[in-house]
Parts: sequence; C-alpha cells; structure tokens
Amino acid sequence: MSFTAPRFAPPERILMGPGPSDVPKRVLAALAAPTLGHLDPEYLKIMDEVRDFLRQVFRTKNELTMAVSGTGSAGMEACVVNLLEPGDEAGVCVNGVFGGRMKDVMERTGATVRAIEAPWGETIDPAVVAEFFAKHPTTKVFGIVHAETSTGALQPLEEISKIVHDAGALLLVDAVTSLGGVPLDVDALRIDAIYSGTQKCLSCPPGLAPVSFSAAAVAKISERKTKVQSWYLDMSMLRSYWGQERVYHHTAPINMTYALREALAIVLEEGIEARWGRHQKNHLALRAGLEAIGLKYIPKNSLATLNAIHAPEGVDEAALRRRLLAEYGIEIGAGLGPFKGKAIRIGLMGASSTKKHVMLVLAALEDILRLSGGTAAAAKAYAV
Ligand SMILES: *Cc1c(COP(=O)(O)O)cnc(C)c1O
Repeated sequence: MSFTAPRFAPPERILMGPGPSDVPKRVLAALAAPTLGHLDPEYLKIMDEVRDFLRQVFRTKNELTMAVSGTGSAGMEACVVNLLEPGDEAGVCVNGVFGGRMKDVMERTGATVRAIEAPWGETIDPAVVAEFFAKHPTTKVFGIVHAETSTGALQPLEEISKIVHDAGALLLVDAVTSLGGVPLDVDALRIDAIYSGTQKCLSCPPGLAPVSFSAAAVAKISERKTKVQSWYLDMSMLRSYWGQERVYHHTAPINMTYALREALAIVLEEGIEARWGRHQKNHLALRAGLEAIGLKYIPKNSLATLNAIHAPEGVDEAALRRRLLAEYGIEIGAGLGPFKGKAIRIGLMGASSTKKHVMLVLAALEDILRLSGGTAAAAKAYAV
C-alpha cells in the first residue's frame, strides 16, 4: 500500500488580526536552516545572541532574560508560577480577556489573588491602584496588561509602577501586544517581570515567549519556600540552561530560536524608536480612514498595534470578516467576551504595520460596506 499525502499548501494571507502578524521571508528562511543540537556550541552562540537582542528590545539590563518555550501564555504562566506560591498575596488588573487570564493563572498557584476591575475598553486608574495598596499593603506581586488585545486599550504604566514599588511590591507586566510595537522601556518603568510572544509585534511565527525578570524578582524566586508548581517553566532550572552552566533541561525549539533571532535582528536594524514611530503613523492613518467611513473606536486610549472598532451598524461582522478573507485574503479579528459579534479588531503589528496594509484594508472595507472616503482620509493623514 502506498500513501500519497494531499498537497500541502497553506494559502498566503494578509494577517491583520490580533496575531499572528505577517512573517517576513527572512524569518521563514531562518526556520528552514539546519537543525543543530541544543548543546551544540554554534547553537549556544545563537542563544546568547537572542538573549542580547531581547535585552535591547525590552530595554533592560536584566540578567534573567530569555525566551521560554511556548506561546505568550507560556510566558504569562512562567512569570506567575515563579513569582507566586501559596501564602502570597497578589493583585491583578482585569479590564479584558488577558487580565482575566492572568487572574486565573495566578489563582491556580494557591496565592490569595485580589482583582481590580475596570469596564472593557477602559484603562486602570492609578488612584484605584493606590486605594488597593492602602487596603492590602502586604500584596507582593501586582499584575497588569500593558496592551489589552481584547479591547485595544493601551494602559499607561508610569504612575502605577511608582505606586506598586512604593508599596514594596513587584510589578508584573503582560507586553504580548506591545513589545516591538509601542513605547516600552522595562528598566525605566522598573518592571520586575515581563513576558511577550513572538507572533504579535515581533512578526515571528508563534512558539516562543520572551521573558525578563529584575534582580528583585530573582530574589523573590530564590526565597521561595515551595517548589515552582510547573517543572517545565521553573526558572531556577531554565536559567542554568540559558546561563553559563548550560545544564540540559528540555530540548529547546531550535529552529524557532533561529526565527526569533532573525525577527529581533529586524527590529534592531529598523531601530526600536523608529519602529514605534512607524506603528503610530500607520495607526493614525488607519484611524483617520476608519473614522471617515463612520466607524468608531472602542477604547479612549487606543493601541497603535490593535484597532478595536464597534462593528458597523446593521452589518453582520462575521460575514464581513468572511468576505475580507475570501475576496482579499485579509484576516482581521472578531470581538471577544462582551464584544462578541459587536466589534472588529484590526491589527497593525510588526510587518503588518505598513501603508500598504492600511490602504488595502480600507479599500476592502469601502468595497464591502459600499462606503467611500476612507482611503482618501488615510492618504491625507500620511501626507502630513
Ligand atoms: C495573544 C496574547 C496573549 C496570549 O498569547 P498566546 O501566544 O496566544 O498564548 C496574552 N496576552 C495578550 C495581551 C495577548 O494579546
């Protein structure tokens, strides 16, 4: 009996959803490089480069900086399970799906977890955080999402970081949709633990989660009374593999590490600040175009990397997304949670944040919705 597999041919899409974003050919080519052993000296050199590039992109000097095996959620879990153990008190901000996920992961550690909630689409008010610490001064770890991909809201962190540190707690930040897309400086913001993902603003396939821990976070981990609940994500063992000792823990996703190396190299070659500027410019043009065709943003403080918009009145948003995919090959995102069926989410992340993407999605929306003026308004925004 012989077997012939059906032809393998994933179509080419234009990825403008909440991630993954378009992956540059150079990153895909890196995936196809020869697989090395996970202790091969040449591979160890690549790990060192990734770590060095990650420090530059995170803007940190943190020694404990690495890429965890797994997607952004693995990064979340790695930060949470290493920092928390039963008996600890934690705070977490919930104003969308990912704050809710962080709360769930925190609760599974056995720590006492208290949430600050804000309506979806809004940001967390620093005054509420100050009240929280006045009430719960023994809180050890405080978690917050920088870029809430489910609502498109950008959370300012400066004031909150000051409140958290004045209270002697550690600040844990989800930067999955902000790293490489919107201004973020880990050391200046005094972030103690941060995680991201490869497939959003870094424009790499999903599969690794960059993380970084401050000296204070490392001290908290080394004072643990109990073992980290997750063997796979135990930083005390992972750091021996990423550090000088090179102790085998689990086989690293070798080719994904190549891809991340290339994706980070692209970020650094562009320049991190130039990259933030590009994301902002394309966001403003898209925004001008969407507003010109009567579409309204959900959050007051919108991310440059994710545009969450109320679904156009009287339009079946699922049918709209289906037509964008079928007729233009464009993927955009649906609404989540309370926005299910009521919102669309357009990502402008990494390689998907270009004038070409902005003009194309506006032209496609004009066509499908039978409206006009969007591309003209965006062109005007680009001209200033
Ligand atoms: C996508 C995302 C995650 C989860 O990342 P996965 O790669 O899907 O595991 C976590 N937080 C935020 C803010 C995200 O956008």
